[in-house]
Amino acid sequence: MLASLLLACASTTKPGVVGVTRQQFLMVPAATVEKMALVSYAQQNQKAKEEGKLITAGAEYERLDRIATRLRKQVGIFREDTRDWKWQLTLIDAPVINATCAPGGKITFYTGIIRKLALTDDEIAMVMGHEIAHALREHGRERISQAYAQNILTGVALAATNNSQQQIAVANQFAHYLYTLPNSRQNESEADAVGLELAARAGYNPAAAISLWKKMAAESGDKNPPQFLSTHPAPETRVEEINAMLPKVMPLYQAAAKPEPPVEEKNAQQPVQPQAQPQPVRPAQPVTAKRKKA
Ligand SMILES: [Zn+2]
Repeated sequence: MLASLLLACASTTKPGVVGVTRQQFLMVPAATVEKMALVSYAQQNQKAKEEGKLITAGAEYERLDRIATRLRKQVGIFREDTRDWKWQLTLIDAPVINATCAPGGKITFYTGIIRKLALTDDEIAMVMGHEIAHALREHGRERISQAYAQNILTGVALAATNNSQQQIAVANQFAHYLYTLPNSRQNESEADAVGLELAARAGYNPAAAISLWKKMAAESGDKNPPQFLSTHPAPETRVEEINAMLPKVMPLYQAAAKPEPPVEEKNAQQPVQPQAQPQPVRPAQPVTAKRKKA
C-alpha cells in the first residue's frame, strides 16, 4: 500500500524552461479520469448540438483550430504521451466568458470569451495554453484523487462498468472537480507558467497574457462576472508573476516560427507605396526591334 502511494506521487510533466516540478498526489488512474471526461465532453457537445449552438465550421472555428493546432505541436516539451491524445476542439455559441480543456485533450471555447473580450490571436493562445496546461498537469485528476482518498468521492469504481447511466452519474461527479471547483492558486501559477511556454514556443507573444488578464479583470465588476474567473481565481500576484516569467519565455517566442497573420491584417501591413516620380518621357522604342528571335 505504501509502495503504491509512493508510486502515486510524481510530476505529470517535465519542467520546461519555466521549471514546474511539484510532485503530485495521483491515486485515481489517468485512464479513469480521461474516460469520465470523455463522457462529460460528449454530453456537452450533444446538448449544444440539440440546442443549435455547436459551431463546427466558419472563420471563428477555423481561427481557434489554427491556434489549437500550433499549441498541440508543443505539448511533447512537457509530456510525450499527450502527443497521442485524441485532441478535439469544441466551439459553443453562447455569451459565456469561459474555456476549458479536459484531460485527454478535449478543448472547449465559448463564443462569449472571444467576442466580449475582443481577444487577439495571441490572447486566445494564452487562454488555450493555460487550459491545456491544466490538462497536461492533470490538476483535475489530483483533486479527484484527494476527494477519493478522503472518501468524499465514492463512485470511482462504477466508472469501469458498462452501465451508461452509472457512468454518467460518475462523470457528473468528476466534472465537479474538473470544471466547477476553483483551482488552487498554486495550480493557477503552474498553468500560467506552462501555458506561457507552450504559447511562446507556438509563436504567440507571451506578453499577451498581461493584456488578457487585464481584460478579464475589467469584466469582473460586471453583474455577470466571467465564469472563467470563478474557476480560475486570480492570485493577486498573477500579473507580477507573469512579468517575472517573460524573460524566460521571450527567447522561445523570438526563436519560434510565427503564425501567418489573418488576411485583413496582412493587407493592413502592406507598406505604403511611395508616390511614383514623374519619369522623363522617352521616345517609344519600336517593340519589334528589341525582341529576340526564339
Ligand atoms: Zn486556471
